[in-house]
Amino acid sequence: MGLNMKRLDRSKQAVNSGSGGGFMRLQNKRNILRIFTFPHKVTKNDFTRGFYSKTDKIKLGEEFDELERAVPRHFTDEGIVNCVVTDCDHCKTAAKLLGSSNKNDQKLGKRLKANTAFYVNVMDLENKDAGLQICALPPIVFNEILTYVLDPEYGEGILGGEGRDFLIDRDTSKPPAKMYNVKLRDEKRCKPIDEEGLEPADLFEVPALEPGWSVVDGLDESEKPDKDEELEDEEPEEKDEGLEDEEPEEKDEEPEDVLPWELPAWCKAGNTVSFDDGDGNTLKGKLVEFDAGKDEFDVDVDGDVWSLKFEELKHVPTGKKKSTKKVVKKAKKTPNRGK
Ligand SMILES: [Zn+2]
Repeated sequence: MGLNMKRLDRSKQAVNSGSGGGFMRLQNKRNILRIFTFPHKVTKNDFTRGFYSKTDKIKLGEEFDELERAVPRHFTDEGIVNCVVTDCDHCKTAAKLLGSSNKNDQKLGKRLKANTAFYVNVMDLENKDAGLQICALPPIVFNEILTYVLDPEYGEGILGGEGRDFLIDRDTSKPPAKMYNVKLRDEKRCKPIDEEGLEPADLFEVPALEPGWSVVDGLDESEKPDKDEELEDEEPEEKDEGLEDEEPEEKDEEPEDVLPWELPAWCKAGNTVSFDDGDGNTLKGKLVEFDAGKDEFDVDVDGDVWSLKFEELKHVPTGKKKSTKKVVKKAKKTPNRGK
């Protein structure tokens, strides 16, 4: 398809030409983004995929400016897989786990169930040379943006080159519900962006956003901006499971960053964490399970299970050799802080 090829071409030129087309994701700091709509001509497939409904009186070939594409995704052990929605194996497994009476299964189900990301075209104002990029926003952030856009006080005028800067703070040291903060920069302080040559991606036609697309077997082939060493060098610590820079061969390393808008990537059963036992002793243990709703984690310290708050935990990177992981016993106290 024409667009697809265009995108691939753009990806190749992205670094130098400023024509964008690659993926970016929110950094763990203040992100300053301009958000762009994309023009889209209605196709038959759009109705099949549920983007439009015939009852909306939308016709084939009509052209609209669209803002986002919502993509339900599963975070599986093998990487991120876009939900196929109908007859989805991951959804079935998640439902089965959620319906189990076993608490641990329920938690696994909660983690596996589809999690929607909202993809938009953005310009990172601190990296304008990259041009327009595609960014996955957590629902909580997208909702905030939408609230501004739908508010007559602001409206669509806040989007695009003449629009406003969105200040999106992301702090992964905070509990999941408080990780993000979205603000609009004062109108007087927003400089217009020259839109010439900027071409937002038609998100309804991006292969990596299609149902069933898996980061593991697909992204490196076509969607990943090719061998972008510059980027790698700039952000050596960026190794989370974000769609943009997923490297299947890095899967065995401990991701230090967070899963998008959920829990930090290290919040996985088997990873080592440390915490204070309340008496000034630092204990180390392995994460057994967690309850995202309560931010509560079970940590196994040599056979004793402690229930701890997210804020109390520190991840202990185990380095590349995972096999030599050992639990260090530092204090012989009775762990009775849990249930
Ligand atoms: Zn699914």
